[in-house]
Amino acid sequence: MPTAHPRSRDVALDAAAADSGALRAALGETASWRAQAEALARELVARTVGSHETLFDVQRAFAIFPPGSPAGDSLFRLAEALPRIPDRPSRIAMLADRVPALRGWRAAVALPFAGLAMNAIGRQFVYAETIAEALRRAERDARALPPRRFSFDMLGEGARTTQDADRNFRRTMDAIRAMERAVGAREAGLRERLEVSVKLSSIHPRYDAASHAQVRGELLDRLKQISSRAAAAGIGLTIDAEGSESLSLQLDLFEALAADPELKRWRGLGLAVQAYQPRAPQTVDALLEIAARRCERGGMPIAVRLVKGAYWDAEVKRAQELGLERYPVFTDKRLTDLSYLACVRRLSAALDSVYPQFATHNPVTLACVLALADRPGGTSAAAARFECQHLHGMGGALYLALAATHPDVPVRTYAPVGEKRELFAYLVRRLLENSASSSYVRQAARAKRSDDLLGTGFEFLDAGPRPRDIPLPTELHMPERRIARGHDLGDSATLAEWTKSVNEARRTWAAGSLVNGERGLRPARPVVSPARPDLTIGEVSEATPDMVRSAVDCAHASRVAWSAVSVLERAAALERLADLLEADMAGLMALCVWEAGKTLPDSMADVREAVDFCRYYAQQARERLGSPMALPGPVGESNVLTLHGRGVFACISPWNFPVAIFTGQVAAALVAGNTVVAKPAQQTALTAYRIAELILKAGIPPGAFHLLPGDGGIGRALVADPRIAGIAFTGSTDTARAIQRVLAEREGPIAPLIAETGGLNAMIVDSSALPEQVVDAVVASAFRSAGQRCSSLRVLYLQEEIAPAVLDMLRGAMATLRIGDPADPATDVGPVIDAQARKELAEYISDLRSRAKLIAESGPVPAAGSYVAPVAFEIGSIREVPGERFGPILHVARFPLEDLDRIVDDINATGYGLTMGVHTRVDSRAERIRARSAVGNLYVNRNMIGAVVGVQPFGGEGLSGTGPKAGGPNYLVRFTTERVFTVNTAAAGGDLGLLAGTTAAT
Ligand SMILES: Cc1cc2nc3c(=O)[nH]c(=O)nc-3n(C[C@H](O)[C@H](O)[C@H](O)COP(=O)(O)OP(=O)(O)OC[C@H]3O[C@@H](n4cnc5c(N)ncnc54)[C@H](O)[C@@H]3O)c2cc1C
Repeated sequence: MPTAHPRSRDVALDAAAADSGALRAALGETASWRAQAEALARELVARTVGSHETLFDVQRAFAIFPPGSPAGDSLFRLAEALPRIPDRPSRIAMLADRVPALRGWRAAVALPFAGLAMNAIGRQFVYAETIAEALRRAERDARALPPRRFSFDMLGEGARTTQDADRNFRRTMDAIRAMERAVGAREAGLRERLEVSVKLSSIHPRYDAASHAQVRGELLDRLKQISSRAAAAGIGLTIDAEGSESLSLQLDLFEALAADPELKRWRGLGLAVQAYQPRAPQTVDALLEIAARRCERGGMPIAVRLVKGAYWDAEVKRAQELGLERYPVFTDKRLTDLSYLACVRRLSAALDSVYPQFATHNPVTLACVLALADRPGGTSAAAARFECQHLHGMGGALYLALAATHPDVPVRTYAPVGEKRELFAYLVRRLLENSASSSYVRQAARAKRSDDLLGTGFEFLDAGPRPRDIPLPTELHMPERRIARGHDLGDSATLAEWTKSVNEARRTWAAGSLVNGERGLRPARPVVSPARPDLTIGEVSEATPDMVRSAVDCAHASRVAWSAVSVLERAAALERLADLLEADMAGLMALCVWEAGKTLPDSMADVREAVDFCRYYAQQARERLGSPMALPGPVGESNVLTLHGRGVFACISPWNFPVAIFTGQVAAALVAGNTVVAKPAQQTALTAYRIAELILKAGIPPGAFHLLPGDGGIGRALVADPRIAGIAFTGSTDTARAIQRVLAEREGPIAPLIAETGGLNAMIVDSSALPEQVVDAVVASAFRSAGQRCSSLRVLYLQEEIAPAVLDMLRGAMATLRIGDPADPATDVGPVIDAQARKELAEYISDLRSRAKLIAESGPVPAAGSYVAPVAFEIGSIREVPGERFGPILHVARFPLEDLDRIVDDINATGYGLTMGVHTRVDSRAERIRARSAVGNLYVNRNMIGAVVGVQPFGGEGLSGTGPKAGGPNYLVRFTTERVFTVNTAAAGGDLGLLAGTTAAT
């Protein structure tokens, strides 16, 4: 049975240890050093404010173009994109976009100057382009006063491909060799001045929890090679800290290195710890243990670089998207500052086994560090037993001031080395850091006098609890509704836990029809898993035409009673259902995994979406259906509009979102006051049956909801019944047409059909897009869920200037995809739904092989099971694609910029209009595409799947569906019928309200 790799170093979040009281307790008393720290901070700031060091740097730029203002935003966006856009027309378009004064010919004239300015911003943060140049510069700088130490960071991170990772690894190894040669004959003192910093995400394309079991050995091997090289050269190595979800992986690898006997005499092993993580003090404790054990075995101390953390906004966004219970970072800046000092205290008390490196650009933090060190038993008693660090291009003035006040404190500069194309991720973090309103550097840029700056500088030491300024991830839409709770499968402990729970939830399922709460007893057919044809996972007894009749009889008989139940009660039942679904997350995920072949993250997302549908429709029902709408009219008359269930709704759902779509349709129909007969996809009847049980458990009366598992024949019989007053259907365009024909033929009232059908979805990428972002979005959109989403990407259009680079990266990224058992946490792509689907996809792929150019094909695929390897072909245009093919098959076409309008027209001409992706930094281009295209959901600079209920209502137009959009504000109304109630209030002789002056006369 597959398991996630259990982390050896599990630093779980202890909520109690993370509040202000606990942090202050960990920091201890402040009375003995606070006054000294305040005086020191004042001195540092006085020396800093007005220093020439800051005159021409980015801080000044932000003082002139304040972040948050349109000008500041433009500066940020130009710096991020302009230097890397290859073609002049796109550069001009972007400049004109961001600086309205440069519209027209002026942008072309200003372009060279803008280019120079943006390069200058980039250069501010990069020490040198090559390590040779960096070493030459360092030698000069190291001799200058005060002498400096360096940590070279060979720019590059988040490798998407093995090739990128190999290149980054080689560059780091080469850099160490070059450093070794440079220090070779010189005095030993220089050795300790040099260090490299490494991001683990740069040296392996799969540095993630799901892959850890598989790639741990490879990662460790690389790290060992880097470490041995550095140890031989006598220089240091620090492992940078990245996303919070990688903390346990980072610790696991670090622990292994620290315990390696061959590295034990090496003084240079270090890693970075982020104080903004509530887990920081525990992380430091874990490191102290590792260090103590190393020293007990005769090893050297380890280095610990303490930082606050550079990914704050990304962490907050991710936690919100995943619906996590709490944030992995503090959301109160004062707590980050307190946590930093609590860690300083812990580290300073263990100088025998650790060498602390305090990295900050904040003079208050720095002053506190120094004041703490000055206490009896503090670090300064042994000068040079710790050091301070800053980033190249930041904090220059502060560290000059420090050199004056504390010449004995060693200072290290983190010095990024690399070319323009490697700079962007790093640059964006620095620009964000410089522009965040909570950041000290931003405040310093704005302050006129040092007093302005220090006014509240030390208040964080007194930090008490205060109301949250950012709601918890699941409370984003409160008080209206709670968001479905999610779990971070990027975290190895959480992943291991869920892998286990889902595996344990597997059983032999059984399903059948449910009519008026009675399970139909008929011979059952076995159900096998698409991932494992040898594995029978349950049995289904399917409905008969007789059962269709009885279900509709009963639903029809119950419709009046159900529609008389108050909206509030119906909504409450939906909310109970949401809670039941959430509570049965593991059981439902297990069904998704084994019956539908969905991976663990896809399964969790499916259940969460169902939960969100229930809570959203409950809220919508209360808002829209709960009370009559008064309509304006003449005096003496009252007019109100009310919405009512239509009668019996047929809900026909597909297998690709067996939980979300099934639940969403049924929940909407029920809460709108209809009774429901549901016909789920034949392939996912077991899942539907489990949800049906929960629907009844939530208190929906058995007469109001019926389930009929079966094939298309059952669906046809259901739709043909003239008592069906409306149909919600999600599936293929062909089936929707067939339903429409049946409806047209039958007797009785004309019923509305709400159909969500297929798509031939395109993504347009221009030359200003960031290739890494594009490749992430393409892989997720085209191959996640094995391409079996209606929103999946089918045709990628790449502007010709960047096509070769993007395709290279795409090839590399596809080579790292793992296809296999969806229950295995390491799997990226599971099977397609069944053998028939696999056969049809295989035929189409062989057709493409004969007429299109193969770009890449992932693999290998398991021998048994309905697997299709993700594959990409180059074609001329979307016109060559015969229609929707529901699988991991991507078509790619190149385009010259001048053809942009034409390709949008070609996409429109397919007749589909579901989703579209656009990647561009030129807003006017995104806007132009938006204005010209006819699609339901258009996504800019992100992937194009995973629409969120209530946030991105989902559904298309044309061949893609009738609307209204699921999870949107207009959906419920379509399930209702409208009635108007008019009363002549003057019938008794007059309008009392008018006479009393309370009714406006018309
Ligand atoms: C030598 C060096 C190496 C570095 N290496 C790494 C590394 O490996 N990994 C890494 O992630 N970063 C690294 N950094 C970047 C570092 O995290 C930032 O420079 C640092 O956070 C800035 O803190 P400060 O004390 O200079 O400024 P301050 O202005 O005092 O603090 C800013 C920081 O506070 C935090 N913050 C902002 N708003 C909030 C809020 N609302 N709630 C809670 N916290 C908030 C954020 O961490 C933000 O970066 C490194 C920095 C240096 C100098």
